Amino acid sequence: MKYKIEFKTFNLKHKHLFRISRGARTETPVVLLKLSFGDFNGYGEASMPPMYGETHQTAINFLNKLDLDQFNDPFDMDSILTYVDQIDTGNSAVKASVDMAIHDIASKIKGIPLYTYLGLAGVDRVYTSKTIGIDKPDIIQKRVSEAAEFKILKIKLGTRSDKAIIDAIRKVSDKPLYVDANQGWKNKYTALDRIKWLHDQNVVLIEQPMPVDSKKESNWLKARSPLPIIGDEGIQRLHDVETAEQFYDGINIKLVKSTGLNEGLKMIRLAKTKELKVMIGCMAETSCSISAAFNLVSEADYVDLDGNLGISNDPFTGIKRVGGELINHNLPGIGLINAEESWNRI
Ligand code: MG
Repeated sequence: MKYKIEFKTFNLKHKHLFRISRGARTETPVVLLKLSFGDFNGYGEASMPPMYGETHQTAINFLNKLDLDQFNDPFDMDSILTYVDQIDTGNSAVKASVDMAIHDIASKIKGIPLYTYLGLAGVDRVYTSKTIGIDKPDIIQKRVSEAAEFKILKIKLGTRSDKAIIDAIRKVSDKPLYVDANQGWKNKYTALDRIKWLHDQNVVLIEQPMPVDSKKESNWLKARSPLPIIGDEGIQRLHDVETAEQFYDGINIKLVKSTGLNEGLKMIRLAKTKELKVMIGCMAETSCSISAAFNLVSEADYVDLDGNLGISNDPFTGIKRVGGELINHNLPGIGLINAEESWNRI
């Protein structure tokens, strides 16, 4: 039996202009993948925010090189994914789409949810944070009220408006906040000042305060920060975890960065040996990637899986959200519902 491959390009439409410290956008390009193995179909997704360099065309070029004919054991993840990884450097998002589809198929053949297939405990339900992009204070207050169901908000900072944004939020909400500066603080003294101030504002953690290449400064900051610092842009793949404790108290694992679940789980295991905190995060994504990532949340200290909630044209139905919680439906595979119908409508 051989794998059959199909893929489609798609553009996610953001409900609101999405602004972070490095730019703003209204759409995110994705490539959606369907692999078949006998009677079993597996689905995957490559979400490609522009700053990471992948595009519809690079993903198509990559998938055209993919030749899975040499594999006939659908459970031999390491062999298949080692082959996928060496097709070309980079291309992490499109590699992740193959990883998701292969895991979907393997766990569907076994008739079990993917987290069980991976040997993980799974969870019945889990709170996710809800991200609010950079905007004018009155718009931010509107977004905070729209996110009333969520227990934790993730706030994008990293510009001169940082204090105005937090002040605006604190006029309308006392919820715990995650703060993501997206490398926006260039000076270590400024960064430490802001973190100390945020510490007094019921902020729980700071994501990627300084640029990835500011290694000495990040090490200095980590030693002094009263809040845990989580590496995101600075933590792409497994090799980045090897030195992560020098700069961060925890790491944000996203399937599109890690090349998928197989390496993502290796990153989690290495992080735990170093007593690093683990966040399971996402990009703007459909319910395909979000459901796949949900299979890892039993291993997470922080869950930030809201990427499907900020888009208006999610073609898939997956992990359900009730209020601010994601609810496990225990389906075999990565957790999509009626995926074949969804696929045919794309
Ligand atoms: Mg981030």
